[in-house]
Amino acid sequence: MYKENYHTHMRLCHHAEGNIEDYVLKAISLGFTRLGISDHGPIKNPGFPRMSLEEFKNEYITEFKYCKNKYKNIHLYLGLEMEYFYGMDNYYKELLKDCDYLILGNHYYSGYVNRNETSSYNCNTKEKLEEYVKLVEDALNTGFFKILAHPDFFLCGYPKWDKMVDNSVRRICLACIKNHVLLECNCNGFNKGKKDFIDFIDYMYPNYHFFQIVSEYKDLEVIVSSDAHKPIDLDSNLELGYKLLESLGIKPKLHPLDK
Ligand SMILES: [Zn+2]
Ligand SMILES: [Zn+2]
Repeated sequence: MYKENYHTHMRLCHHAEGNIEDYVLKAISLGFTRLGISDHGPIKNPGFPRMSLEEFKNEYITEFKYCKNKYKNIHLYLGLEMEYFYGMDNYYKELLKDCDYLILGNHYYSGYVNRNETSSYNCNTKEKLEEYVKLVEDALNTGFFKILAHPDFFLCGYPKWDKMVDNSVRRICLACIKNHVLLECNCNGFNKGKKDFIDFIDYMYPNYHFFQIVSEYKDLEVIVSSDAHKPIDLDSNLELGYKLLESLGIKPKLHPLDK
């Protein structure tokens, strides 16, 4: 198995555990050569807990710098997982001054947040799916994001596989290719169980049909992440993700953040 992972969460988002150093020690114990820390970033919109801007500046960055200085035998990268909100481009630019990369994690299908209403779990109509895909395209076109997390997340809400889904997956793939964004096979989804899509039963993400279409785009760069919310889960289910890609002839992009 490949010894790297760029999608991890720690205590500052209030629904994950561990300090950055705990992840570094876990990564080293697993023989990892590369580790990215990417907790949910600070946002101003209310509705759910995230780290504050003060915590980002005073704790997140400080802890990371301490580790980077202390552990020289592993490549460490600092990132954030962010929703994309319209009209806040300067804010993303500001965050990127302190980060190596941003992950787009669109847990909300439109460019604003209302915990229930706009959750991607409620992306259950063609109109909402159109908003979801448009948001991904617009976000990736800004150039701020290096990784698209769980691109198949809309399948948590969308009830079945239809032409609209097929077309949406293709638009997402093309947006990644156009903007040199890494498309993620998110192994945390294996923990969410399978769903009945009327014609078939499968994981919402990472979804086999989704990655079947991904496999048609040879220029697309795909990575596998654990999206760990505890240090002990750093390598959880990664093996399953790599197997899924292998079964479809998709070669994962290795060391994607190396300069
Ligand atoms: Zn999370
Ligand atoms: Zn995440």
